[in-house]
Amino acid sequence: MATTAELITRRNRTIGPYSPLFYDTPLQFVSAKGVWLTEASGERYLDAYNNVPHVGHANERVVRAMTEQASRINIHTRYLNERVYDYSEQLLATFDAGLDRVFYGNSGSEANELALRIARQHTGATGLIVSDYSYHGTTISLAEMTTGLKTKEPLGAHVRTLRLPDLDVDPRPAAEVAADTLRQLDTAIVSLQEAGFGISACLFDPLFSTEGMPRLPEGLLTAIADHVRAAGGLVIADEVQSGFGRTGTHMWGHQYAGLVPDIVTMGKPMGNGHPMSAVVTSEARLDEFGSQNEFFNTFAGNPVSAAVGEAVLQEMATEQLMQRAEVLGTAALTSLQAMVEKHDFVRVAKGTGMFLGLDFAVDGEPAPHLAKQVVEAMKDRRVLISRIGRESSVLKVRPPLAFGADELPLLVSALEDALSEI
Ligand code: PMP
Repeated sequence: MATTAELITRRNRTIGPYSPLFYDTPLQFVSAKGVWLTEASGERYLDAYNNVPHVGHANERVVRAMTEQASRINIHTRYLNERVYDYSEQLLATFDAGLDRVFYGNSGSEANELALRIARQHTGATGLIVSDYSYHGTTISLAEMTTGLKTKEPLGAHVRTLRLPDLDVDPRPAAEVAADTLRQLDTAIVSLQEAGFGISACLFDPLFSTEGMPRLPEGLLTAIADHVRAAGGLVIADEVQSGFGRTGTHMWGHQYAGLVPDIVTMGKPMGNGHPMSAVVTSEARLDEFGSQNEFFNTFAGNPVSAAVGEAVLQEMATEQLMQRAEVLGTAALTSLQAMVEKHDFVRVAKGTGMFLGLDFAVDGEPAPHLAKQVVEAMKDRRVLISRIGRESSVLKVRPPLAFGADELPLLVSALEDALSEI
């Protein structure tokens, strides 16, 4: 078996060193089942980080559906296929009225790119509003609005950014914080209008995952949506991280946030690792776009993807994964809150369902070095987590939704232990 050093050398000589690897000494997993991964050394690791294997690594229902459909036929959307419409009906049934049409894609980036096209064609405008610390994908248009990851592309002239507040660290009254953010938004809107771009859309992850899950004033997100709509723009919710029951209480992050967007994009957990994504919107937006563009996506919306997507929804329903996320997430958050009481450097416990965070700070300043130490210390305890946020000072605990009651005490005790060590 190749050593870690040998693999790193081969990696650098082929795919290159620039896509970040996790950990000072990277891990090499050779197999996985449920929420457990087996490393080349034979050691087992608990997955409290990965959201793509949503219903569990190597999930039997998903693998069976995929192989059965692939053994029968896989074909594109230029032929009729009942399975694709079966899945589409099931997926659309999870949305509020008015969000009743779906376009398929192969990645979150593709879905967001299409959402931008739909918004641009509806409004005739190009101006975009995004958070000042966010990530929505890899294409040129998305790179031009990337604020939370290193990119060489400068911010597009048609992009304005909004600083989302965090009541967990902002001492001002919520109403003042909200009013301040909306003023910032209005200034951005006027600036786009004056520059001739107009307002095409705002695009947000309803949980603000990359941002580090800030706690927004109640109703702020809907007020932002109202202001954008009043200026003629559409509201796009990027559910790549927040969707598919992640919040525990709602299937979609925008439902959790009390928002009805014009366009919703999704990816990552949708196919449990099989590459698939979607844009959900209204019949009117679909007709408007579809009638003006011959839109064809070779791989998207094929019956194998539909079979996989359907199996993910079935597994979620059968195993009651969203409900489980709510119960376990609430219990986990209580444990995390106890860690805030116990350790000076743990500032806030945050999150919902199976998306939780611990914010580290020393003397009121974010402490990314401590967060990094804890992520490494958790690895030493064979538990995978990561970190997020503007300063990378917030622990990111976002396991597959298949995470169970048996695993929760392992996660909590490893974290308690890791915190005591640093
Ligand atoms: N949106 C969000 C919120 C994401 O987290 C990501 C991926 N990290 C993307 C979009 C892009 O998705 P993909 O990598 O599938 O293109």
